[in-house]
Amino acid sequence: MPATTLAWRPLNVAIVGGGIGGLAAAVALRREGHACTIYERRSAAGEVGASLSCAANGARWLKAWDVDTAAGKPVTLLKLTMREWQSGDVRAEYDLKGYKSEWGCEYAMYHRQDMHAMLLDAATSPDGAGPPAKLLTGYTLVSLDAAAGSASFANGEHISADMIIGSDGIPPALRSALGIVPDSRPAPQTCYRCNVSREEVEALGLAWANDPAIQFWGGYPGVPGLSQIVMSPCAGGEILSFYCFMPTEQSNHHEEGFTWGEAAIDDLLAGQYATLDPRVVTLLRASIERRPWVLFVHQPYPFWSQGRATLLGDAAHPMMPHQSQGACQALEDAAALGLIFSRKHAEAGLTTDIVKGLALYEQVRKPRATKVQDASARALEDLNERIGFSSLAPNEPAGRKDKLTVAEMNRYDMAADIDERVAALLQAAAA
Ligand SMILES: Cc1cc2nc3c(=O)[nH]c(=O)nc-3n(C[C@H](O)[C@H](O)[C@H](O)COP(=O)(O)OP(=O)(O)OC[C@H]3O[C@@H](n4cnc5c(N)ncnc54)[C@H](O)[C@@H]3O)c2cc1C
Repeated sequence: MPATTLAWRPLNVAIVGGGIGGLAAAVALRREGHACTIYERRSAAGEVGASLSCAANGARWLKAWDVDTAAGKPVTLLKLTMREWQSGDVRAEYDLKGYKSEWGCEYAMYHRQDMHAMLLDAATSPDGAGPPAKLLTGYTLVSLDAAAGSASFANGEHISADMIIGSDGIPPALRSALGIVPDSRPAPQTCYRCNVSREEVEALGLAWANDPAIQFWGGYPGVPGLSQIVMSPCAGGEILSFYCFMPTEQSNHHEEGFTWGEAAIDDLLAGQYATLDPRVVTLLRASIERRPWVLFVHQPYPFWSQGRATLLGDAAHPMMPHQSQGACQALEDAAALGLIFSRKHAEAGLTTDIVKGLALYEQVRKPRATKVQDASARALEDLNERIGFSSLAPNEPAGRKDKLTVAEMNRYDMAADIDERVAALLQAAAA
């Protein structure tokens, strides 16, 4: 195959934000021959110390991109366990043992820093397909001209590019620069995350807590209000990671997003936590890196793209963490961009008509990401809505279309969807 065809050209892509979504976009696009530069505001692109599960709909892209996932020290999840808040008795269980044979990839739990590192390597390593992406740190976006494809940063630098991807998370500067005013409000739950080492768990005589599972206490209606614990091992089983949710009115932290400042243990063990399974309280008392993660519920944005600029990941579809899908959806966004601007679809001329390519990206990705966003808000109220547990509900009203299931998430063939849409574009152009 020639390096370029008449209707395809390598793009100069600016990616604003070097988190999981931005790095994934760089991986997907470099593999298609595009030159990517990642502009990250932090002095060293880094990640939070917490777990992140990657379901098959995200994992399949890591596999397709030859990402060295073993380097990310995944823990293969074998079940989801829902427990009673006070006693810890098992209330429901979703078995994941046949998951890989059914869906082609494991349901893996990573430490966020490990996942970030493996994506950074895949994006910037001189090995691998396509030109390695460049990572520039200390770049905070301050303004954007979407029509011209140019941007300015707080350090005084100005850049121009064929395409600008806003993967700057929450709250995103690029979204504001596109003129999108979010319809958002504080979530009824606030999250604190913290970690306990494997040795500490074993020293406390609670080794069962290291099981390869996501375990949940609370989160279902009524019992016990909106308090909820989500616990899982990561980093090859060396770290037990907790997400601790509590009613927002009970929290002392209110600024949207992740905060690096340490929270006191008493911030955590207030209110309903006084009645929590004492084994979990013991673990939380032994935890380190207790930091707040303040959640806002966002309604879907009216659009994602304008001119040569588009949004990706949390910047496009911030969602509650209760379906464990935010990062997976960012991986799907990245994969869609790689497929749309690929040589395979050269004849559609999307690399020469970026606006058309980004319109296709939004058509492909917005409905699905919005559905996951909606379902994530519902799962905040009721854990039975969570992918996995949602398949256990016995008395479902027939014909419910909003419920998310493992099958729906993993059966979707985005490459085939894009093939069909490109074929329709070509047909329309020929007519
Ligand atoms: C409690 C919790 C648990 C979660 N668990 C899971 C899970 O198990 N599975 C899952 O799939 N998802 C999970 N998620 C969601 C997932 O973390 C996010 O969806 C994902 O990290 C989004 O990646 P991103 O690249 O869009 O944003 P981010 O990872 O936030 O990256 C944004 C980057 O942009 C940079 N930046 C910001 N502003 C600027 C600027 N002006 N200029 C330049 N750079 C900028 C930031 O420094 C950062 O590096 C969870 C989320 C939460 C809150």
